[in-house]
Amino acid sequence: MEALSVIEGFLYSDVSTLIRLLFLGNAFIGLLGITHALSGVDSKDMDRRRLFVGAKALQSLGWFFVYIGRDIHPYVAFTLVQSVLTAGFFLEALMLLDMSGLSRRWIRHVEDAVFLLVLVGFQAVYFFCAEFVQVLAFNAYSIFLILVLPGVLFIAGSGRSPLRVLVGSLYVTAFVVSLFRGREISRAGEASRFLEELMNDASLLLFVLVMHVGSAGVLLLIKEESDKRLSEMAYRDSLTSLYNRRHFSERARALLALHARGNEELSLLFMDIDRFKSVNDTYGHHFGDDVLRDFSSVMKIAARTSDVSCRYGGEEFLLLLPGTGKDGAVSLAERIRSLAAASRFPGKAGFSYTVSIGVVHRVPSSATVDELNRLVSDADSALYRAKAGGRNRVETA
Ligand code: GH3
Ligand code: MG
Ligand code: MG
Repeated sequence: MEALSVIEGFLYSDVSTLIRLLFLGNAFIGLLGITHALSGVDSKDMDRRRLFVGAKALQSLGWFFVYIGRDIHPYVAFTLVQSVLTAGFFLEALMLLDMSGLSRRWIRHVEDAVFLLVLVGFQAVYFFCAEFVQVLAFNAYSIFLILVLPGVLFIAGSGRSPLRVLVGSLYVTAFVVSLFRGREISRAGEASRFLEELMNDASLLLFVLVMHVGSAGVLLLIKEESDKRLSEMAYRDSLTSLYNRRHFSERARALLALHARGNEELSLLFMDIDRFKSVNDTYGHHFGDDVLRDFSSVMKIAARTSDVSCRYGGEEFLLLLPGTGKDGAVSLAERIRSLAAASRFPGKAGFSYTVSIGVVHRVPSSATVDELNRLVSDADSALYRAKAGGRNRVETA
């Protein structure tokens, strides 16, 4: 089969319009993405936005090469189209993997391997297959291969929202259509010319639609996730990712209201790392931060999901225990104290730290700021006694 006639066949009226649409559509979506990529919540968010722009720019260029392909030597045209489009879909795949929250190292290696396989495989198909339609079919199959794993993980991954499921389904439709296109193209020799073109038009149209709507959805999704991170930043401490004081106060007052109404007891632990200043002075501020992070993990391990933890200030932490009386609170405090003392740090053999803990328990009488302040202040007094009594101990109010 003549190379040029195959390319021209694919550039017949409708298919040609669709290819132009893929070229221009991706270019404009990429432009939209550029304005979006100029700002971001953090470096992870910026990287995601840049991946999106890179993917759309390469895909636009790839479809442009399809469009001008008939004027170029077929090998050069096919190689340009295949490698640039594949690279564009590869970047899109990396972005989906990143957003799926499942980007493990082995998954990334599999994706890299698929990318290389597709690039090398194309050369083999080009030189060893007599029919140019096989080369076109390989192109459609390679889009499927590159998107299949990230697309499925994107839907299955953690932290799904309805928007993500919708966008993920569009990607799955795109790669299933691509698989179907590959099969139809490779069977083109057997089918009648009419049927062949009808099939290609319909599947290409569906592919164009799905890719464009999917891209708009991804932009929305990037925005949705960065909004979520922004609000997380507003109520969490950046070093330990525990709640900050302001958010703790809101959560705590809601619990106070509940316990006051139900005439139920709750407890509060006020924890302070012992002689922390000397940790900083001896090992440096950076290591001091590691110790703070370690203690926050100790708290997360020891606490229940219904407990509310908070970094109150420097090396001071609060833990509010709903529905817990004195005995439960003291035994949890003792457990936290011994877990902290058992913590070890790589490269710092022999280093350990301790905490002092003040415990208060009561049935709250109201949910006012004053009631919360009284609770914290009573726990602080108990903590003061723990410090005065020699540190690394638990005292109750
Ligand atoms: P005590 O046993 O009486 O609690 O003594 P202390 O040294 O722990 O108490 P002090 O209040 O004197 O020191 C607290 C130290 O915590 C001083 C401050 O530099 C350090 N600090 C506060 N915030 C941070 C932080 O975010 N990172 C690090 N590395 N250190 C911090
Ligand atoms: Mg302190
Ligand atoms: Mg301290």
